[in-house]
Amino acid sequence: PVGFVELSGGPDFVSESLRGVRRSFAVAGVGVALLAVIVGLLVSRGLTAPVLSLGDAARRMGEGDLAARAPVQSSDEIGQVAASFNRMAERLQSSFAELEAERDALRRFVADASHELRTPITALKSFNELLTGPAASDPVAQAEFLAESAAQVERLEWITANLLDLSRLDGRLVALNLADHDVGELLDEAAAPLRALAAERQIDLQIHRPTASTALHCDRARLILALSNLLDNGLKYCTPGDEIELGAEGEGGAVRLWVADSGPGINAGDQARIFERFYRGRTRSDDGAEIPGSGLGLSIVEGIVHAHGWKISVESRPGEGTRFVIETRRTIS
Ligand code: ADP
Repeated sequence: PVGFVELSGGPDFVSESLRGVRRSFAVAGVGVALLAVIVGLLVSRGLTAPVLSLGDAARRMGEGDLAARAPVQSSDEIGQVAASFNRMAERLQSSFAELEAERDALRRFVADASHELRTPITALKSFNELLTGPAASDPVAQAEFLAESAAQVERLEWITANLLDLSRLDGRLVALNLADHDVGELLDEAAAPLRALAAERQIDLQIHRPTASTALHCDRARLILALSNLLDNGLKYCTPGDEIELGAEGEGGAVRLWVADSGPGINAGDQARIFERFYRGRTRSDDGAEIPGSGLGLSIVEGIVHAHGWKISVESRPGEGTRFVIETRRTIS
């Protein structure tokens, strides 16, 4: 033999590469599946977490926690729903706060009204007992007690009439007698009955009229009552040497009226409550003398101002004086 040829089976390249490919596919498949699970979990948590927090906030609110709010984490649909929920919660909370404040004011009003009415009623009862008992045969004492009784009845009448008027004004049950009136004349008419008292108390009462003739659409009698109440207070709380100014400026439906005094002023705590019915801040002057009053004067002023659709405000600093301003621009429908 000059040579030989050896035949043998070589390496199986095809099945080896097929095995390799299968392994790679298996690893890639597991990897992709794992990735899909992780991504799916993350996405679903991103979707459900805000919905769960929203549900939690709604549940807390349902249980009475009005301060509960849903976190707004995105600007997508869920974020928008959470923001709307929070706006609604905000409104609900402030409505509840208003209702609570009204309820407290009503309670205070009932307590104050009862107290205010009880005083003259108790006085009348004791005058009656005295008239029929110890003073039965004393004409001088009888006359005195009868006069006192008449004064108490008058006070009762004044309080009840004003309360009734206030409720009617509040409930819009009275029709205002509206017409155009000259502002200067209104100021003069309000100040005239108080000039003598101002002079007697050595208080300088000044009137600041609008520069041009100005008409105001109002209920004349009621506006004069409101201005008189403000002037009355000025005279009551000021001391000799003080000044009071009743003024007006502006034109048409936008007249600004004011009553300013250089009296003792009103502290911040009282300022927040002086328009409440029966609320009285200062009941004694600096020298300790009792200042008469009922706490109804300013509520009547406010009732009249609001019935016209106007606005009243007070600016005051203790020791520097007080300024009540009525803006007649229509602000309340
Ligand atoms: P009152 O009958 O007590 O005067 P008002 O309703 O008229 O009742 O006033 C309420 C409170 O406002 C008063 O008790 C007083 O404390 C305060 N007040 C009102 N006007 C003045 C003023 N011009 N200067 C100082 N305090 C004032």
